[in-house]
Amino acid sequence: MRACEVHFDLDTRCNYRCVYCPNFDSPDAPKGPLSLAGFGRAMACLSRICWHVFLSCAGEPLLHPDLRDMLASVHKRLGHTDTTLVTNGYLLDHARRDLVLSSGLSRLLVSIDSVDPERYRSLCGTGPDALARVTSNVERLIQERGRRRWPKVTVAAIAMRSTLPGLAAVAQWACDAGLDGMRVQWLAPCGRPGMGAEVVGGDSPETRDALRRVRQTLRSRGLHFDCPSDSGRAKARSVLAGAALMRNPVEYLVFSARMFLRSRRPRPCRMAGLSLTMLPDYSLHLCPQSVGAVGDASADPAPLLAARIRAGTRALRRQAATECRECRFRTL
Ligand code: SF4
Repeated sequence: MRACEVHFDLDTRCNYRCVYCPNFDSPDAPKGPLSLAGFGRAMACLSRICWHVFLSCAGEPLLHPDLRDMLASVHKRLGHTDTTLVTNGYLLDHARRDLVLSSGLSRLLVSIDSVDPERYRSLCGTGPDALARVTSNVERLIQERGRRRWPKVTVAAIAMRSTLPGLAAVAQWACDAGLDGMRVQWLAPCGRPGMGAEVVGGDSPETRDALRRVRQTLRSRGLHFDCPSDSGRAKARSVLAGAALMRNPVEYLVFSARMFLRSRRPRPCRMAGLSLTMLPDYSLHLCPQSVGAVGDASADPAPLLAARIRAGTRALRRQAATECRECRFRTL
């Protein structure tokens, strides 16, 4: 059974300027499309180690100039792996919708934090017509998907002080547009000016009330709610129902159980060795903070990388890396 999931960016550039994004104004972050050379080998390797591959995390994947070839390679090499593409949806025009629908992706996650055009514009740094264009693109994609089973299409929203009151409206739009579900995530601390005040606690009455309204809205139309809690009955229900949206439901459930058990014993954290990162040079790392390189996914054999992942995780358990001291995943 494949134990890990991996995150990487098909393209680290972005056409948006979201207020909470730690990457767009970072001079250190590499910018550009992932190279096609080595991509097929890397995907073949990941398909043996990972049950789930995220093809984007911080950048906008639809900007990639060779998107057709990249998705064809994903289709060929990752046919039995869950594959998720995260996009802001602005570039999801007719040609790209065709690519997405024929790519064999299992999930498309469209980021929409608010369906209020003015709030959307101020959060994402876009022009005034961006929200209408995004929602129209997604609604057309759903129509064009027709009776196809994949990809499942889910909206992803960040829960923060300014979006909480409007999350139920995002859920209502998802219901009306015929999406498969909604994912709500906590705002990650990003160190950008003014964003500290946007962080909301999961236990505050306003958060609980906002999430309850989202849950009720989605449930009334049978959509899946991927809730942001780490544990508890709501999370357990969310995980069990989420299996229906996965190509590999058993591996998903085992992975979720392992993450939950790790969260009870955070040594060094629940991510290391389970949630990997691949950088644009195809180097594979043990965790989302790119700690602990285990090798080159485009060159090293999968069994060697799997052995290094196990050894690296054990080593981190004995002695945390310097980066772990300040890492938010250590305190989850
Ligand atoms: S830096 Fe350390 S605590 Fe943070 S995700 Fe990586 S291994 Fe876990």
